[in-house]
Amino acid sequence: MPESVRLYNTFTRSVDPFQPIYAGEVRMYCCGPTVYSYAHLGNMRAYLFEDVLHRTLEKAGYQVKHVMNVTDVGHLTSDSDEGDDKMLKAAEREQKGVLEIAKKYENAFFEDCTALNIKRPTIVCRATEHVQDMIDFVKDLQDQGYAYVAGGNVYFDTSKYKGYGELARLDLENLQHGKRVDTDPNKRNPTDFVLWFTDSKFENQILRWDSPWGVGYPGWHIECSTMSMKYLGERIDIHCGGVDHIPVHHENERCQSEARIGHKWVNVWMHNEFLNMLDGKMSKSKGDTLRVQTLIDKGYNPLAFRYLFLTTHYRFVQKFSFEILDSAQAAYNNFRNKIIELKKNAPAFTVRAEALEETKKQFNACVFNDLNTSQALVVMWNCLKDEGLNPATKLAAVQDMDQVLGLGVDAIQEEKAQPVDAQVEDLLKKRKQAREAKDWAAADQIRDALAALGYVVKDLPNGETQLMTLTKRS
Ligand code: AMP
Ligand code: ZN
Repeated sequence: MPESVRLYNTFTRSVDPFQPIYAGEVRMYCCGPTVYSYAHLGNMRAYLFEDVLHRTLEKAGYQVKHVMNVTDVGHLTSDSDEGDDKMLKAAEREQKGVLEIAKKYENAFFEDCTALNIKRPTIVCRATEHVQDMIDFVKDLQDQGYAYVAGGNVYFDTSKYKGYGELARLDLENLQHGKRVDTDPNKRNPTDFVLWFTDSKFENQILRWDSPWGVGYPGWHIECSTMSMKYLGERIDIHCGGVDHIPVHHENERCQSEARIGHKWVNVWMHNEFLNMLDGKMSKSKGDTLRVQTLIDKGYNPLAFRYLFLTTHYRFVQKFSFEILDSAQAAYNNFRNKIIELKKNAPAFTVRAEALEETKKQFNACVFNDLNTSQALVVMWNCLKDEGLNPATKLAAVQDMDQVLGLGVDAIQEEKAQPVDAQVEDLLKKRKQAREAKDWAAADQIRDALAALGYVVKDLPNGETQLMTLTKRS
């Protein structure tokens, strides 16, 4: 029987006790990366939040089925056919095929996740591999009278769905009177959105598919509803993303899904607040985006960034600067040194079961209360500093906490003289061969095996491979 967990639900705007739809199980869907460039540190905050949520639910005793999409179709900056198709732009910029671009940035994204100890979701699904499912979804909506064709495109008619705007609490009156400026003359209502494009300003769009409405490509909300339903069924427990997704992407996902199935789709909507630079927004479209590799290049341990993330509750805006990261790195180094010391001293002691249980209880009370990670860190430091606890009990307690915190306690050890042992060298050789044979699945599997040993591999533009240990840079 899982322990009780309380979570903030954007839909109800309150922290409610979590009730799973299926006993002992959690089905959660998280909006994944758009892979036309590297993910920035703000994006990584969203994935860190989802990882801590996943780990917390597992700690509470649930079996978690976590699905995440990869948006590898051309991504527009708005619902209408305006803005840039970023995938196409990247392909032009880098003189590569669109699918090559998508694969490159998808790999980079999962390398970043590995460096931050973010567990891979149970299922990762790519938009380009589910286009027929999306077409079937749109057909269903059209058959039920929720979609209309105008100017060659298929639109969702938001006026047909009773309750449009309830998640985001949109002021539809004001939207009707033109507050949300929209230049698409085909829409019947300002909030309507495209389900399928056939008429596009992107004549050279490479990723196009045949459909009942003509050759084209999907709108940007349909993939999440489609893949979520395909892998998790018609009712899901939790749907996550950043707060920017609430008013458009998630509202649209929700309404088209509920229109199709005729009942409630998601029980708990959860959103992380933004990570911003001290002087403003962190955006992927600005040229000089900060990413995990930037931190590694500057000599930071990526887990210091994970530590920083944990210091602020996910529903509060978090600020980033290198001075702030310096403090997190110092705290992480301190933590690491304490773990090394505990690992040396623990074998001479026995774990005190009662004290261990008490510490676990205090820690769980924090994370089970809407993921209060900052308070959980306080419990962790109190435990590490507690002179009444012996090293074996402290180490057992922190190992338990690390199931949620993911600060790499098991991998932490003193620097070894020879950094690459025979096993790692062998795996690297095999990965090189797999890459040369273009066997990407095998290469990815070997990357995961290296990650399990505590190593991150980075493929350099010159074809060489750089190897980093997760605990090296402190
Ligand atoms: P995108 O690739 O733009 O769809 O973003 C991926 C995820 O990162 C989404 O869940 C966004 O809501 C989230 N996100 C984008 N920018 C930030 C930011 N500065 N801080 C936190 N989360 C963000
Ligand atoms: Zn989504």
